[in-house]
Amino acid sequence: TAAIEIRDVEKVYSDGKRALKGVSFDVERGQIFGLLGPNGAGKSTLINILAGLVNKTAGSASIWGFDIDDDPRNAKRAIGIVPQEVLFDAFFTPLEALELQAGMYGVAPKDRRSMEILRALRLEDKANAYARTLSGGMKRRLLIGKALVHNPPILILDEPTAGVDIELRQQLWEYVRQLHAEGTTVVLTTHYLEEAEELCDRIAIINHGEVIANDRTSTLLATA
Ligand code: ADP
Ligand code: ADP
Repeated sequence: TAAIEIRDVEKVYSDGKRALKGVSFDVERGQIFGLLGPNGAGKSTLINILAGLVNKTAGSASIWGFDIDDDPRNAKRAIGIVPQEVLFDAFFTPLEALELQAGMYGVAPKDRRSMEILRALRLEDKANAYARTLSGGMKRRLLIGKALVHNPPILILDEPTAGVDIELRQQLWEYVRQLHAEGTTVVLTTHYLEEAEELCDRIAIINHGEVIANDRTSTLLATA
């Protein structure tokens, strides 16, 4: 089965805003898949539906073969989500933040690999520093680390490099490629064509709540 299957998904918010109008696509296992679209296109709505944070109005979605309505627990465990906003409790250290997150996912202490994650993100020197003392880039990297504590086969990044400088953008891209090389399926939303082009095997373009293109990156660029 596909890593993610989305079928005819509709979202109408309670104020009447129709944010998704029958969205369908698959993300194959092992891909880096880009969901590209301008602000307001519906990208975050779709990610929030997959994360179980927003209820869809109609349609179906499954993650790693688990239907998000019939088997939300397993569906949720199959993804790690890196949110757009950097929201932190300033009183925890990176190591504590990862351990807390692991606890929330019920990861047994012997299966935790917080220090390994911090090393991979080059945050090991900051393992015991308070989060408020971290730079913006370090906080971004810690957010990725938090999404990985339960070892999900799929990582979803919502606008990973919005408002980020070039150097950090390159670092984040490199890390996404490394995770992909290790077998993780990656989905990212972006409004930068350049970012989708650089990283993604396949790109779906969403606009006004509709998928208007969905193709291999090379094919999409050849016809653009
Ligand atoms: P749902 O339809 O999923 O129940 P709601 O329509 O009740 O969601 O909205 C959830 C929250 O999002 C509310 O607190 C609302 O104020 C806020 N919200 C409303 N409009 C927008 C918007 N355009 N963008 C982001 N958040 C919004
Ligand atoms: P994107 O992530 O592509 O910028 P969003 O999914 O955030 O797009 O928003 C899609 C549309 O839905 C926008 O018009 C936005 O204003 C609206 N929207 C988002 N959240 C809410 C909400 N909670 N209530 C009402 N409208 C919303």
